[in-house]
Amino acid sequence: MTATITEPSFRESVDLMVDRAMCVLGLDEGTATAIKSCNAVLQVKFPVKIRGKIEVFTGWRATHSTHRLPSKGGIRYAPYADQDEVEALASLMTYKCALVDVPFGGSKGALLIDPTQYERDELEMITRRFAHELIRKGFLSPSTNVPAPDIGTGQREMAWIADTYKHLHPEDINYIACVTGKPLFHGGIRGRVEATGRGVQYVAQEFFRHPEDVKSANMQGSLQGKTCVIQGLGNVGYHAAKFLSEEDGVIITAVIERDGALINDNGINIEDLYQHIIAHGSINNFPGATLEENGIAVLEKPCDILIPAALERQITMENADRIQAKLIIEAANGPITYGADEILNKKGIVIIPDAFANAGGVTVSYFEWIRNISHIRLGRMQRRHEETHGLQVASMLEELTGNKISDSLRKAVAHGADELDLVRSGLDDTMRSAYQQIRENLLKNEKITDFRTASYATSIEKIARSYIDVGIY
Ligand code: GLU
Repeated sequence: MTATITEPSFRESVDLMVDRAMCVLGLDEGTATAIKSCNAVLQVKFPVKIRGKIEVFTGWRATHSTHRLPSKGGIRYAPYADQDEVEALASLMTYKCALVDVPFGGSKGALLIDPTQYERDELEMITRRFAHELIRKGFLSPSTNVPAPDIGTGQREMAWIADTYKHLHPEDINYIACVTGKPLFHGGIRGRVEATGRGVQYVAQEFFRHPEDVKSANMQGSLQGKTCVIQGLGNVGYHAAKFLSEEDGVIITAVIERDGALINDNGINIEDLYQHIIAHGSINNFPGATLEENGIAVLEKPCDILIPAALERQITMENADRIQAKLIIEAANGPITYGADEILNKKGIVIIPDAFANAGGVTVSYFEWIRNISHIRLGRMQRRHEETHGLQVASMLEELTGNKISDSLRKAVAHGADELDLVRSGLDDTMRSAYQQIRENLLKNEKITDFRTASYATSIEKIARSYIDVGIY
């Protein structure tokens, strides 16, 4: 981490950014404090016998808000996790869900652990034990608090959590909805693994649909040919970089990882690099680029788009002034500190903030939760009906025009939407609508001059409305 000690903590940083938006909205102090307060934080310590010795693990689950239920947010496994971070991330979940109209409160969890130091069976034991604590203490259930993957966790951990809940609550017919991001075979949904990266791509696409926004970032034209530096090739960074380069013609000129950065101004092939990392466990000796050992310094490389997709607090008051990107899309949570945000705004760098940019994950989690509580795969009832209807339309056109429709066109017209089509369409629509709401706030309120404040203002207006309409209980 590069943050200096003079900067506020992650949680304080989020609160300061939120304060900026609340101030612009002129929100009364009571409502503002109610929205910002973290509703509950559970800390657990539990022993697990590992290789014949007892180890005590520490974990947290913070429920930031319950104005909508369930509260939602990932669980991360990290050796640096702490309560301040968990609370900051839980609050971001509240703003994120409201922004993209996902009807959930905000929550987040963490386990203080370096998962690379444990075998699969050990991780299963630890995860089940952690889940047991959360369930028993009322911090995990389909109707109140639903975790998902985050840094250091994935489908496998979610399946263990769901199974633990099922054993403790066999009478709950919605047990499978107690967690999202599950494997497909265990109640997961198609498109969830790639969802956050896919959402980042949709955000970038939508930004470039607005020429005035592109101009405000000192660029012009479309995504095609734009240069991009990405930090972190984990699940989010990998998918965002892959889709943007393979589908939108973005040139990935640098990839920053833990062990340095790779640079190639002609573009790095993301799939090749990803396979190289899987095979060798590192970016070292990748043939398609030059290695720069001081990875973090590559954040300062000139580029059109910078995508921090790793950890929080990467752009701080120390390096913000040297950042040369025109547009920053925060795929990670909290990669820019409050002080750095102010410096970047003054420099005229446009920032699409985390609460919006990485909301694709929770959006598709919402679709998965709906699939789980409705006990049916999305599209199962309509797909063949749409197909038959499409074929009828194709035949009708042939009959009316006397011309034969090509096989490829017939196939396209007759395609009934399957689950993945619906997930992508729902995600694209969600990201586009949220962007337009944020943009409207930015344009209509002259006190708002940046996307972050506009995003928080959009989100806080919705949360405040729910407090004001229902009252405080
Ligand atoms: N961990 C992800 C996030 O920070 C996903 C949360 C969810 O799907 O509940 O947004």
